[in-house]
Amino acid sequence: MKTRLIIATRNAHKVSEISAMLPDFEVCDLSVIQNPPRVEETGESFLDNATLKAQAISALTDDWVIADDSGLEVDSLDGAPGVYSSRYGGEEGNDAKNNAKLMREMAGLSQREARFRCVIVVARGGQVEASFSGAVEGRIAEAPSGAGGFGYDPLFIPEGYDESFAELGEEIKNNLSHRAKALQGAQDWLSKVS
Ligand code: IMP
Repeated sequence: MKTRLIIATRNAHKVSEISAMLPDFEVCDLSVIQNPPRVEETGESFLDNATLKAQAISALTDDWVIADDSGLEVDSLDGAPGVYSSRYGGEEGNDAKNNAKLMREMAGLSQREARFRCVIVVARGGQVEASFSGAVEGRIAEAPSGAGGFGYDPLFIPEGYDESFAELGEEIKNNLSHRAKALQGAQDWLSKVS
């Protein structure tokens, strides 16, 4: 029987990517928890925020819980948007506004190096059991392209490629993404303990 794993996120794209990357687990979203709380992301790091989400949700179930906190760091913007990636444009989760702001901030900049970072926290019974991180290097495109993925995917070109994550599609993204790398660690760890 597959071990059940609850993903502590309201982001359907994250659930879809994580489910595709963890075929050996029964991956569930927050709908299996009654009245899941909306966890404020008040931390100063991806680890802080992933910990807040994983602890809050795992306190409400006996199942394993994983939380992902992730974002984009742009070198010429001193690491912004970083932990503020999902609300960079002024409205939580508004990808169009976030991307438009990033394009404004990057206008005329020739230094376009950036990376996505992801921290995955594994928790059970309200306690953090392990955490894993992953990053993928790349650069910010001059203009958005592609219809796949979510968030900043139309603007992020991973190292070694000429197309954005949104153009490359789920299979390629799921092989090299920050989330894939962090999840690989979580998967190896969970396979040993669960
Ligand atoms: P979180 O839900 O606070 O972790 O927000 C993560 C934010 O970072 C998302 O709303 C996106 O803007 C951005 N982000 C994280 N991972 C990705 C990704 O794989 N592709 C594109 N944007 C991402």
